[in-house]
Amino acid sequence: DVLGADTTLADLPLREDLRGRSPYGAPQLATSVRLNTNENPYPPPPELVADVTEAVREVAAELHRYPDRDAVALRGDLAAYLGEATGIGLSVQNLWAANGSNEVLQQILQAFGGPGRSALGFEPSYSMHPILSAGTRTDWVPAPRRPDFSLDGAAAARTVAEKQPSVVFVTSPNNPTGQAVSIEDLRAICEAAPGVVVVDEAYAEFSAQPSAVELIEQYPAKVIVSRTMSKAFAFAGGRLGYLAAAPAIIDALLLVRLPYHLSAPTQAAARAALRHAEATLGSVHKLAAERDRVVGELRELGFEPVPSDANFVLFGPFAEAHRAWERYLDSDVLIRDVGIPGHLRVTIGTPDENDAFLAASKAVSEEIQ
Ligand code: PMP
Repeated sequence: DVLGADTTLADLPLREDLRGRSPYGAPQLATSVRLNTNENPYPPPPELVADVTEAVREVAAELHRYPDRDAVALRGDLAAYLGEATGIGLSVQNLWAANGSNEVLQQILQAFGGPGRSALGFEPSYSMHPILSAGTRTDWVPAPRRPDFSLDGAAAARTVAEKQPSVVFVTSPNNPTGQAVSIEDLRAICEAAPGVVVVDEAYAEFSAQPSAVELIEQYPAKVIVSRTMSKAFAFAGGRLGYLAAAPAIIDALLLVRLPYHLSAPTQAAARAALRHAEATLGSVHKLAAERDRVVGELRELGFEPVPSDANFVLFGPFAEAHRAWERYLDSDVLIRDVGIPGHLRVTIGTPDENDAFLAASKAVSEEIQ
């Protein structure tokens, strides 16, 4: 008997606008092949583990004190990394960090969204954008993509001009469909947007498209580029997301962030992991090559994979996607039913994991496709 278990959600004085909603929920199941949450399949190398351990040991001696509230050293390291990756000069004042890019996105909505305001996104896209909007009481405005899931920049700009949202989300490469958005299309959206344009670049390291960081100079009051160490950096468990923007945007986020939101161990571990960026990011090329192999083999099996610039592939067609998802699970392969009719999403894993996925795909295609 669990104490208080007779009380249900329906008994609580919950906000009316949250009634009937579902929490974000990728199933965490203990299958032998887990290709469902777009993580990097390669565990951190021993040198990185040793460096993180030592860095956390050092800050452990200071745990009676609050951490650096503004995470200045970490933001400096992130500025150096992102500046080098994009070729755009960035300072500490251009960077902000939080516990995963989800927290970064939530802070953006707390500062620039809210009651009486709206956020617009091009669906299907990252399901947390509407969930975070709901949590901050920002009205969600869904806008369409082309039937092949790519973004029509001119149509997107027209929709933004018409709907006048305070926040626009553009995910590039887009999760769960995979395509990146060109700088020209982003520029068209920025020209039309009355508020901020959040370019969610969680998967940017896997893509050859230039980063939206180069648009900050032209649109300093609008462009926010969100990034994460959860994907290419193989640091999902470390929870470190960040953004690049004009310093004034970060001044706005300081108004809503919780004091000391980034723990001393998180800051230290992230800095240690960043020192190994070159080795960690070596896996990006391997994963991109494996992605292209998986796409080719899926085609040979008769599937229609959507072109991807990321570390995952959306594919179909399935008469019943959820039944196909269960069939993969029967083969001990966990992929993702993202709720797009006829489609499933697979994260690119190690070659062995991809082989297991492809073998299951062959069986599924023979049985139920
Ligand atoms: N943005 C996108 C597009 C994502 O796919 C994800 C992770 N699924 C995130 C943001 C959030 O990642 P994290 O909070 O781990 O940085």
